[in-house]
Amino acid sequence: MRKNIVALSALCLAGCPKDKPPPPEPKPPIVTSALSDGASEASSAKGPAVPKDANVILVSIDCLRADMPWVGYPRDIAPNLTKLAERAVVYTRAYSVSSYTSMSLGGFLGGKLPSEMKRDGYFFSAYAQDNLMFPEVLQSAGIHTVAGHAHGYFKDAGFSQGFESYEVVPNLKWNQFTDENVTSPELEQIAEKLLAPEGGGRFFAWFHFLDPHDMYIAHEGIDWGKTARDLYDGEITFTDRYVGKLLDFIAAKPWASRTVIVVTADHGEAFGEHGQTRHGFEVWEPLVRVPLFFVVPGVKAHKVEVARSALDMAPTFLDLFSLEADPAFSGKSLVPEILGAAPEERDVVVDLPKTSDNDRRRALIHGQTKIISFGAQEYMQVFDLATDPDEKQPIMKGDVYNDMTTRLKTFSHTLKEIPATSCKEGCLWGTHRDDAGALVP
Ligand SMILES: [Zn+2]
Repeated sequence: MRKNIVALSALCLAGCPKDKPPPPEPKPPIVTSALSDGASEASSAKGPAVPKDANVILVSIDCLRADMPWVGYPRDIAPNLTKLAERAVVYTRAYSVSSYTSMSLGGFLGGKLPSEMKRDGYFFSAYAQDNLMFPEVLQSAGIHTVAGHAHGYFKDAGFSQGFESYEVVPNLKWNQFTDENVTSPELEQIAEKLLAPEGGGRFFAWFHFLDPHDMYIAHEGIDWGKTARDLYDGEITFTDRYVGKLLDFIAAKPWASRTVIVVTADHGEAFGEHGQTRHGFEVWEPLVRVPLFFVVPGVKAHKVEVARSALDMAPTFLDLFSLEADPAFSGKSLVPEILGAAPEERDVVVDLPKTSDNDRRRALIHGQTKIISFGAQEYMQVFDLATDPDEKQPIMKGDVYNDMTTRLKTFSHTLKEIPATSCKEGCLWGTHRDDAGALVP
């Protein structure tokens, strides 16, 4: 935590208070749509560059699986996102930090694995204010920060740090087992409001759509069939309509030509793989592979096909705003490879700490090889994702197994894990922290 935190009061339950709008925009930029192929201001003889006065809009979609139409899914379930992706730098092997919202987005914002962050031990974890979240760094640098969300958990999760305006769709029904709300229309309206202040200035905006989360609700005029996956696809189509509406709104703005748009998800979703539905609890590929693409004015569409982690997002956002890297964040900026540098192979770690409701899982991906540890790392399985993408044939011995177990153990030894501070007494590792912060058995 570096600045005063926007405290979400109880008033927020009925709609968050409006914060002051950003100051006036200094001068209108040259207008070419960020959603067209123009916007060549950023390019020069030295090659493409991020516009010096860039804004960044992050659209994340809960439970959005990696197998979307822009990477080959045969149904046209997301025409607006697919059209956007055609002009994007598309990552084909992006991994979320974890396999459900709380652990994934905590790590995403904190630029650290959730095991390294101060948090309580509940499944719907609350993150402590002394975690540094990357929007705080942006805000400290004078960048306006706004966010709109669509689930009650976001009110008190600790995700509002660093946001001047942080709104959650009002009047949501709370159900800890599923989400029965339909929120994309209202969230899109919140997004338009937060993106349409009196003035301007550089901004970072984050909107997290939630309708693809179960329960899968049928929407009028959308019919992909009746199975769970069909209905989920319908939720994607429904969400895509409102993302499309938001993209049209953005395209009409004078700042569109200097605005970077990032699309990703907090985790994937299972439809029977490994006997699992929905998400969380495990770290199989369908749960932790996510879409990720960047539309950067002046940067040509291309694909990056090496494995990358959502931990890289915090340094990437700093870099998009031309801010210096912050050692608090453990990932690496993706901006050089977005601009065309050859991507290097790096290991990716997926981290699911133990909480009140789930056991620990951790995975490490090295090239095309993945190791998963179950529980406190006493049992591990290795998979060759190139020949066994469905993770059905675990490698349990031999050189590859030995190399991967060593790799994961070495990594875990260097990790500065922080035990969760509390939940129901004794529910985590047999310990909790007392008021003075000491571990109590
Ligand atoms: Zn989620």
